[in-house]
Parts: sequence; C-alpha cells; structure tokens
Amino acid sequence: MGRPRGRVVRAYIGLGANVGDAPATLAAAVHALDGLAGCRVRAVSRLYATTPVGVPDQPDFRNAVVAMDVAVPDGPSPDAAASSLLVRLKDLERGFGRRQRYRWGPREVDLDLLVFGRHRISVARPEGGQSDDPAKAGLPLTVPHVEAGRRLFVLAPLEDLAPRLVPPGWGERVASAAARQRALEGAGAATPIATWDGAGWRSIG
Ligand code: ATP
Ligand code: MG
Ligand code: MG
Repeated sequence: MGRPRGRVVRAYIGLGANVGDAPATLAAAVHALDGLAGCRVRAVSRLYATTPVGVPDQPDFRNAVVAMDVAVPDGPSPDAAASSLLVRLKDLERGFGRRQRYRWGPREVDLDLLVFGRHRISVARPEGGQSDDPAKAGLPLTVPHVEAGRRLFVLAPLEDLAPRLVPPGWGERVASAAARQRALEGAGAATPIATWDGAGWRSIG
C-alpha cells in the first residue's frame, strides 16, 4: 500500500506593506511563509518601492513576491488546499498586526495568493479566510488573483521569479503583462530597492 502520496504545487504569494517598517515586516513574512506546515519558500523576488494604486493618498508601498512549494495531499481537491493556504495567509496578516481600515488603504501586510500551480479556483468564502475589510469579507477566493495581471506592483516582482510563466487563464507570459503594465503605469511605479540574500534584504546600490 505504501505511504500516502501527495503532490507539490508551486504557488506564488504577493506581499505588500506600507505601515511601519515595511521591509522588516516583509522579511519576517517570508520567514513565516517558510515556516508554514507543508510549505517551503523556494525563491524571493527583489523588494520594490511602489506607487499606491486605488487610494493614491497614502505612503508608498513595499512589495515582493515569493515562490513557494506547497505539499498537497492526494484526495482533497486543490481548491481545499488553496483555501487552507488562504486561511493561513489571513492568520499571518493578523499576526503581523493588520487592522481593519478602508479598501485598498494602508496596511501592515497584505498576503495574496497570486497563482496556485495550474489550478483555476473559485471558492465561496473559505471559512476563516475573510478579509478584515468589511467591503471584501464576502469575496470568494479566486486564483489566479483577479487583479494580478493589471498591477505592476505584482507583475514586476513576479517577473523576477517567473518571466515565462503563463498563469492559467492569462493567455500571455508574466513578462508580457509586466511590459504592458510598465508602459501604462510608467517604469517608476515599481522600483527595485533591495535583493533577498537568503535571510533578509540587502539594499541595491
Ligand atoms: P486585492 O484583493 O484587490 O489585492 P486586498 O488584498 O486589499 O485587495 P484584502 O483585504 O486582503 O484585500 O481581502 C482580500 C479578500 O479577497 C479576502 O476576503 C479574500 O478571501 C479574498 N480573496 C479572493 N481571492 C484572493 C486571493 N487570490 N488572494 C487573497 N485574497 C483573496
Ligand atoms: Mg491585495
Ligand atoms: Mg489581500
């Protein structure tokens, strides 16, 4: 019979923060992601300084993307594994002191599930995975993340890790989406400021 078998799914997690010591928070978040059961961080993008989207009148953000392998047991659907991961991301956000504010407003940390292997997922309201933002509390989990392809603050760091990746449903590579969005938003909307040295950020230049 053998041991229960499982698979490994490559996930990409988008990290953002603009309250407090954002680089330190994002570094701690990388380590926390690596500490999640069944999860292993495989690569970390550069750290970017980015212009706020949606609500311009707030501090600049720091953004990064992490490539993470997630052990998925045989049996339950990938939706269940993705939901479980989202719930744990929301727990981490709260652990880092994320408080309820207004939509797209300042935050201690935002951890979004951008891509979960080749899976396209839409699950209604994972238990415990709700946003602290009342306007978003009832949103289903949707993967790939709906807005990821239209945000340079996601695409630039994702391109560092996976330029040739075609997320399911996109019909184009990450690099193409990033180039288009860079033309729209201007290259200055996302500036690399540090690289990951395995333990923390090392400033560029
Ligand atoms: P945005 O989703 O536009 O980046 P946000 O990250 O500021 O906004 P949150 O307050 O973090 O929004 O709330 C995210 C809400 O969206 C949660 O209720 C969560 O369940 C839902 N959601 C749906 N799909 C995803 C996803 N792929 N990753 C993270 N949250 C998601
Ligand atoms: Mg977000
Ligand atoms: Mg979020």
